[in-house]
Amino acid sequence: MEKLVITVAVNGSLPTREMTPHVPVTPAEIAETAVKCREAGAGMIHVHARDTEGRPTLDPDVFGEIHAEVTRRSDLIVQISTGGRADMDARARGKSVQRLCPEMASLTTGSVNFPDQVYANPDDVVEYLAGVMKEAGTKPEMEIFESGMIGNAVRLLERGLVEPPLHFDFVMGIRGGQPATPRMLNFLVESIPAGSTWTVAGVARHQLPMAALAIVMGGHVRVGLEDNLYYRRGELATNEQLVARVARIAEELQRPVATPDEARAILGLSGPEGAESR
Ligand code: MG
Repeated sequence: MEKLVITVAVNGSLPTREMTPHVPVTPAEIAETAVKCREAGAGMIHVHARDTEGRPTLDPDVFGEIHAEVTRRSDLIVQISTGGRADMDARARGKSVQRLCPEMASLTTGSVNFPDQVYANPDDVVEYLAGVMKEAGTKPEMEIFESGMIGNAVRLLERGLVEPPLHFDFVMGIRGGQPATPRMLNFLVESIPAGSTWTVAGVARHQLPMAALAIVMGGHVRVGLEDNLYYRRGELATNEQLVARVARIAEELQRPVATPDEARAILGLSGPEGAESR
């Protein structure tokens, strides 16, 4: 089995300082968290940006600062969000990818009813964002909230809008999306093209059991405060605690954890620009 890639989704759009003191908001805080998570075993960081009030933003200047700070202080793969909670406009969602050409970016290939809003990703928006990523040399992580989104990702592949092998993130246990069950995970894994890589993001209390399942099934794991605020019931977590726990479980299960460069090899990334000189 290949080594385990641990992705940490450190902040998302929703967690606020009122909800948890541990969520990093500013670029400096995000970079500080990145360093700690790298030490704990993370290979990749998934980031959202916030404005000075802490609200979600797609401002490329803020994403630029985050990208610069994280890459200056760590060798983590940086995956930036193109999620539309901040703004539904396709061009706004693609701007940071165009400007920063990050190694990876998230790409949700369909729409889903979140508890607080419809997360709308119509075909034209998905195609536009896929095209932007292709142009930038950015590998998409296909965010799969329900199984129909896999077919949409495969159609992008067939039309040459993305390059194989695909990388999927199964988001499981969010209300309105697919349930976090072993049966569902089996079905999803069997439904993606051969040669694809996959990771699981279990939401809230599902994060830990889905991580354990993914480790033994040969997938990869995403943890972090974007998806789950708690270490256990009633006890708030830090991002690095959640990463460290997955790394410990993987070690016990004799599944070594990938460094960022090993993760790049597993995911077929060529590395960030200027990586050779670092
Ligand atoms: Mg996200």
